[in-house]
Amino acid sequence: MDLERFDRQLLLFGREGQEKIAATRVAIVGLGGIGSHVAQQLAYLGVRRFALLDGDVVTISNLNRHIGSTEEDVARATPKVQVVARTIRSLDPSAEIVQVDDSFVTPAGFAALADSQVIFGCVDRDGARLLLTEFACAYDQPYFDLATDTRDDEQRVDFGGRLMIRTSEQGCAYCLDLLDLEEVRRDLSSVERRAEEYAMYGVPPDALDQRGPSIVSLNGILASLAVMEFILFITGIARPPKRLLRYDGLRGVVIESKDQPRPGCPYCAQIGKGAAVDWLRHVRDRRLAAQPERRPRVANGSRSESSSLSSR
Ligand SMILES: [Zn+2]
Repeated sequence: MDLERFDRQLLLFGREGQEKIAATRVAIVGLGGIGSHVAQQLAYLGVRRFALLDGDVVTISNLNRHIGSTEEDVARATPKVQVVARTIRSLDPSAEIVQVDDSFVTPAGFAALADSQVIFGCVDRDGARLLLTEFACAYDQPYFDLATDTRDDEQRVDFGGRLMIRTSEQGCAYCLDLLDLEEVRRDLSSVERRAEEYAMYGVPPDALDQRGPSIVSLNGILASLAVMEFILFITGIARPPKRLLRYDGLRGVVIESKDQPRPGCPYCAQIGKGAAVDWLRHVRDRRLAAQPERRPRVANGSRSESSSLSSR
């Protein structure tokens, strides 16, 4: 390791801390606006073992926020995993990168996650969050769950986000009541079930899945909060990590939540079950809505279908 390169940050956590960072295998699920920020910062920091997971390609509407993407990537419909791997390699050509150009709900996806030591979840659907939470609990991996939230409710524009860090002592996104269980149910129900609901209620399956705004600076704040906590956690400067941080964009403050996890969580009860859980059940049911069809590689920026497990 070229310590001179990291000279200025060794002043914070020393050579030992730098070696811990370099040795950590990090998975980033969702390489959109937030995940691309997280990857770039981790590469600058000196992380050099990555698993990158995302089945999406770059489109024109990504260019307001996707770190590393260019107009040429839009024209070529470059997979986001390739863009992010390119960004990492531009900083460290010797970085070890496992690329899963697909949903994490695949045999390759689950294998890459199981081989990692820390997972960053940069997804924008709560169905994906619940699966990642279940996985992180079962393998007892620290799981950094990042979410932004932007609303305009006619009274005022409201924007911010949160960072939840799961460890065995801290509870998870489920027992902290951070997940919209109705959204989870929609994400994880089968296509047939969604079609039945459409027939019964007349509501198209994805009608409630509209996406909100996504802003590069808001994504960057959440990514920076997460990478900062990663540094403190991995180097041992601050353990346990903060359980839940909320960023209030209008007030310009970050608040550490005092919320406590509910007891009796079925996901936290799975801690250590790891390989004993049948993860591939999610893959076998190819009709599961959470297992998106691969998106067509279109270069004009239009998207002909929506994915339930996409990145923001
Ligand atoms: Zn829990």
